[in-house]
Amino acid sequence: SEQVGRIISAADVSASFRDALKEKINRKQYDVKLVGYLANNDPSAEKYAEVTARSCREVGINFELRRINREHLEDTLLAANEDDDIHGIMVYYPIFGGGHDQYLQNCVSPYKDVEGLCHTYRFNMYHNIRSLDKANTLKCIIPCTPLAIIKILEYMEVYDREKPYGNQLFGRTITIINRSEVVGRPLAALLANDGAKIYSVDVKDTLEFKKDINKQKHVVADCDLKLADVLPLSDVVISGVPSKEYKISTESLKPGVVAINFSSFKNFEDNIADKAAMYCSAIGKVTVAMLQRNLLRLREYQMKNPYL
Ligand code: NAD
Repeated sequence: SEQVGRIISAADVSASFRDALKEKINRKQYDVKLVGYLANNDPSAEKYAEVTARSCREVGINFELRRINREHLEDTLLAANEDDDIHGIMVYYPIFGGGHDQYLQNCVSPYKDVEGLCHTYRFNMYHNIRSLDKANTLKCIIPCTPLAIIKILEYMEVYDREKPYGNQLFGRTITIINRSEVVGRPLAALLANDGAKIYSVDVKDTLEFKKDINKQKHVVADCDLKLADVLPLSDVVISGVPSKEYKISTESLKPGVVAINFSSFKNFEDNIADKAAMYCSAIGKVTVAMLQRNLLRLREYQMKNPYL
């Protein structure tokens, strides 16, 4: 019989988060200022900044884009860390590429790092440390795009709320096609920390991420399986291949699969909904909502600890 999968839109997933953000900003009557630093000439960064600006205006966040010479960025970030009028900092990468961009990511204070890309948050994420403090009052910031995908999976009820927190993906097999340092790798670690078995596929190889119950965090192992082997085993397939030509054949997928595309190109074939139980074709609106949610968290941390 013909099955037609549910189409899940990013606008639907982000709606309740946006309402909550608006409500909170209204109730607390505080200024919330996010500054974006643009130090490259990347048109997609400009586009992302425009989308962010519009969305911030709608929820009541003051967003300012500052164009800056890349050689001045380091000193500018250090000054922004100290500036009480700036509550969140974001930087559009790549700038220099490679190691120097990583160095710059680490120049942003953890109390202003809305993207969650500084070393403190990355380390805590990979080690499944969920708070900055022992009293659990300052939850760690999770990178926006992986966090958006987690919220979409929660909305789709791939997370089993009957299971204990931290193990709600137990029993799920998930393939992630992309292992970039900003999306694919952190996402694999986060979903494995929540109990899933992950096949992380990139252009060169496959890795398996899964939770080690004794360590209470994920471990990673080499894996001989190829994409064609793991797709029929996967309850969820998440793809982020930045290429127009790249297509996952619907035929290779498990019936009733949950499919999420985060690439700017459509990685699934047009007939994906014939096979999938649920399909989300683009996640951008949820990513922006998570950026804003991270910002409000940090705003609250700054008020709790004004000397940070
Ligand atoms: P990237 O270039 O850093 O990483 C691409 C990844 O895809 C790499 O791991 C690479 O090995 C893998 N890959 C490439 N070709 C492959 C193939 N044929 N088979 C398997 N794996 C392959 O890119 P990125 O920063 O991770 O971004 C990826 C895409 O996601 C882009 O289209 C970007 O615009 C989009 N993106 C969307 C959001 C959002 O919130 N909507 C956020 C970040 C990135």
